[in-house]
Amino acid sequence: MIWLLFILAIDPRYHTFDELAHELDSIALRYPEITVLDTIGYSTTDSIPIFAMKISDNVKVDEDEPEILYVALHHAEELLGLELCMYMIDELVTNYHLDSTITHWIDEREIWFVPLLNPEGHSVVMEGIDTTWRKNKRDNNNNGIFDLDYDGVDPNRNYDFYWTEGGSSDPSSEYYRGPSAFSEKENRALRDLCLARNFVFCNTYHSARTGLGEVIYYPWRAAGYYSPDYPFIRQVADSMSKLIVNEVGNGHYLALPGTGVDGRARNWIYGICGTFCYCVEICTTTIIPGWLVDDVCLRNSIGSYYLLNRVNSSGITGCIYDSLTGEPLDAEVVINGYYDPTLPPRMSDPTYGRFLRILNEGTYDIEIHKSGYESLYLNDIVVEQGEMTEFDVLLQKKETNNIVPANNPEIMIFPNPTRNAMTIYVANPSQFSSLRIYDICGRVLKNFESPSSSTLIWLGKDDIDRDLANGVYYVIGQTNDAKIVRKIVINN
Ligand SMILES: [Zn+2]
Repeated sequence: MIWLLFILAIDPRYHTFDELAHELDSIALRYPEITVLDTIGYSTTDSIPIFAMKISDNVKVDEDEPEILYVALHHAEELLGLELCMYMIDELVTNYHLDSTITHWIDEREIWFVPLLNPEGHSVVMEGIDTTWRKNKRDNNNNGIFDLDYDGVDPNRNYDFYWTEGGSSDPSSEYYRGPSAFSEKENRALRDLCLARNFVFCNTYHSARTGLGEVIYYPWRAAGYYSPDYPFIRQVADSMSKLIVNEVGNGHYLALPGTGVDGRARNWIYGICGTFCYCVEICTTTIIPGWLVDDVCLRNSIGSYYLLNRVNSSGITGCIYDSLTGEPLDAEVVINGYYDPTLPPRMSDPTYGRFLRILNEGTYDIEIHKSGYESLYLNDIVVEQGEMTEFDVLLQKKETNNIVPANNPEIMIFPNPTRNAMTIYVANPSQFSSLRIYDICGRVLKNFESPSSSTLIWLGKDDIDRDLANGVYYVIGQTNDAKIVRKIVINN
């Protein structure tokens, strides 16, 4: 009889671990072109796999596309986040090439899901052992037995960001932060994923056991102090929350700054990685009847999908290159006035040199720094509502400043420096798909339509026939597999 009650405790609409594993596996098999299923770690005590699914075109390649992460089930009893992740995964993969918006997202983004971060805690709930279980199953007293009244760590208090200020040091507490920061394998798995990727946005899904539900918390407000990206991080939370109709149907979710910075995922992911990370408190309680789950997922998916569009609206993006070699650079990008020197620098991606910063409509002063290179100061960069301002940046090595590189057999330029005309000699014009003149900020000034002749005479004018001012410029030839960069100086 008791056994029967336990079975009935959790509605079969909710995924068990086995059902989740089977479903993810089957999606990966059915949609191999756009999905990859990965195991990013194992749970602390029972070594249950923690899955991540990536959805994108050319999914096995790390492409130069913005990355977004959705994570659920830090807390074992908060089942709705897992259902929301699976709902979105299913909707995305089954509508690829059917729905143009979804196809665009999959083609142009890298979308990651970690639907079950705390699988061993989840099993405590799903097996009916304790349907209000929150933590993982760490054996706090090392007695080899799972003690409901003493074991487990709260995975959302174990991140190494003001770790000692959050949760409880008492192992019997529901909010036990663990013996040390990142003591838990679940947290290390998510940490390593976030450090290896360059997520622009992350939603972590929760459900309120006490306090307010239907809220999106963003980082952060501590001691009256807001996060450095506050106006931008808040705008995203405001817009996302307004898209999610509440349960009663008379309004929408609220967006609030999370108080404190302590040990929680959203604060570590934002503070350390620079990812705009949100805690979405789905619904007004943790577990609801199964027949209501689809409706909750539908309403919440609309807010979550907003991030897939927002990643390409107001902000700045581009790539940072070494001015001589054309190599992509990981450099620090500072938005003046929205900067906290106590946080790790916000870097461009080392593979592509890509930076992407979410901003609001306005005008910004931007600094780009990399040790060994001249810093670049870009003033009055305009960001329009709903549009990305795009520009590439070339950084000059300090040692090679003012030194014109030796002529190269592929592109030779003479005279250089020049007064009013220079000859650009291209050894093998057919190898270049483009040949352009850039200024030092990476703006294209002159575009030589794919060079057909090996000798180009350039009179120092841009594409609309204006004389260029004295200064440093770059000739960049793009071949199939390389950028060839030459510095030129105009000195009239
Ligand atoms: Zn939670």
